[in-house]
Amino acid sequence: MESEKPMFQVENFDDEFVQKLVYDALVWCSLHGLVVGDKAYQKSGTVPGVGMTHAPIALLPTPFPESFFKQACEVAPLFNELVDCVSLDAKFIQDSLSRTKKADIFTSRLLDIHSKMLESNKKEDIRLGLHRSDYMLDEETKSLLQIEMNTISCSFPGFGRLVTELHQSLLRSHGDHLGLDSERVPKNTSTSQFADAMAKAWLEYNNPRAVVMVVVQPDERNMYDQHWLSSVLREKYPLFIMKSLAQVEKEGSVQEDGTLIVDGQAVSVVYYRSGYTPRDYPSELEWDARLLIEQSSAVKCPSIAYHLAGTKKIQQELAKPGVLERFMDNKDDVAKLRKCFAGLWSLDDPEIIKKAIEKPELFVMKPQREGGGNNIYGDDVRENLLRFQKEGEEENAAYILMQRIFPKVSNVFLVREGVYHKDQAISELGIYGAYLRNKEKVIINEQSGYLMRTKVSSSDEGGVAAGFAVLDSIYLN
Ligand code: ADP
Ligand code: MG
Ligand code: MG
Repeated sequence: MESEKPMFQVENFDDEFVQKLVYDALVWCSLHGLVVGDKAYQKSGTVPGVGMTHAPIALLPTPFPESFFKQACEVAPLFNELVDCVSLDAKFIQDSLSRTKKADIFTSRLLDIHSKMLESNKKEDIRLGLHRSDYMLDEETKSLLQIEMNTISCSFPGFGRLVTELHQSLLRSHGDHLGLDSERVPKNTSTSQFADAMAKAWLEYNNPRAVVMVVVQPDERNMYDQHWLSSVLREKYPLFIMKSLAQVEKEGSVQEDGTLIVDGQAVSVVYYRSGYTPRDYPSELEWDARLLIEQSSAVKCPSIAYHLAGTKKIQQELAKPGVLERFMDNKDDVAKLRKCFAGLWSLDDPEIIKKAIEKPELFVMKPQREGGGNNIYGDDVRENLLRFQKEGEEENAAYILMQRIFPKVSNVFLVREGVYHKDQAISELGIYGAYLRNKEKVIINEQSGYLMRTKVSSSDEGGVAAGFAVLDSIYLN
């Protein structure tokens, strides 16, 4: 659907007007808790309320075609279901990651926990998934292509809603001047939907005295995103604790009946906002904590199988011909998912390696890592591939190759540390998905809000916390 009103041309805005918008935006962020810890303050990652600064934001929502937004929302429940199905196929997980295991110690440690759970025949009856599937709109082919599926520690379910509300509020005040209608920024209930899913998981666990535990990094400047989620959750269910993996190791135990006890309290739901990167496991203590949680009867978000189902290697395996069919019966569903898949290859495919060496700018090389800042681009792709070829290294199994997606570049205002910059930028749309089931009963399977992230087009990497991107919402056109 075409917008009736002309789309905004940021080139036409005068500086005075933009300054006014920025001022209003920053006041809004401060009053509504769209804030992060400020690097300049040492304690800002550990003590709430100390050294806060507004989150990095796009000043205005980024135009996004309504048809593609709908497409991304529509596939969210299918991706939720797919993760669940993959998580139950232990052989598929172990086989797909068997070469990666030899080349990547972090994946290997996760697989060891997975193997231990298989050996003890551990079943997860109640399964909670809080995912975010990320997409870019490829400009040349005009298609919505999935960047990745995140199944652990998806960031900004707390801020997704907030940045949407910020943009809606700015458009309500200045929309006439901008020629924009706040109604075209779609409603975003990411926070309450994630909190609701956690609350329902707590209900399913059925121990009224048990608490929800958020596993956090000991020093986290993005703490307010998590506090938003917890505060919404707390309105319904006051039983709530935050612990680091090291604390869980120190204060935790599993009783004979499987109950996880931390700091003297039974834990019903474990929500990880830590544990997704090797940095979260500085010693064996943290691995012990992860294993302890996994062995318990608490609902884990994610379980080790859900975590592994979200690795880039599994994403690449799922894109191979015939693999989706193994997990989904409905042909239409398979077609809808496949439509979102970009080109994905393993590094043992000589033909694609040859192509990538010739034209590395058309590829991204990805390790099994999360959190942004880990991928390899351009000439570095060529160099690494040549090195693997020459040295015949097994190390190549740590990576996958992906088709590079080129989204449309547009002029936007990015606001950081109180200052705005006009820049050429590209955007990545994240769609949250919540899934909860208890044995055969699917309790929740829905799209749960969204988050746009926008970054300068000259930067290869994404990630807001990693310092590359800003938080954004969308303006449907
Ligand atoms: P992570 O789990 O670390 O977030 P991603 O796969 O999302 O890993 O990659 C990080 C960032 O790299 C993305 O946010 C995106 O900006 C960029 N990126 C990843 N894959 C592609 C791709 N195929 N084409 C273009 N950019 C990509
Ligand atoms: Mg990721
Ligand atoms: Mg990502």
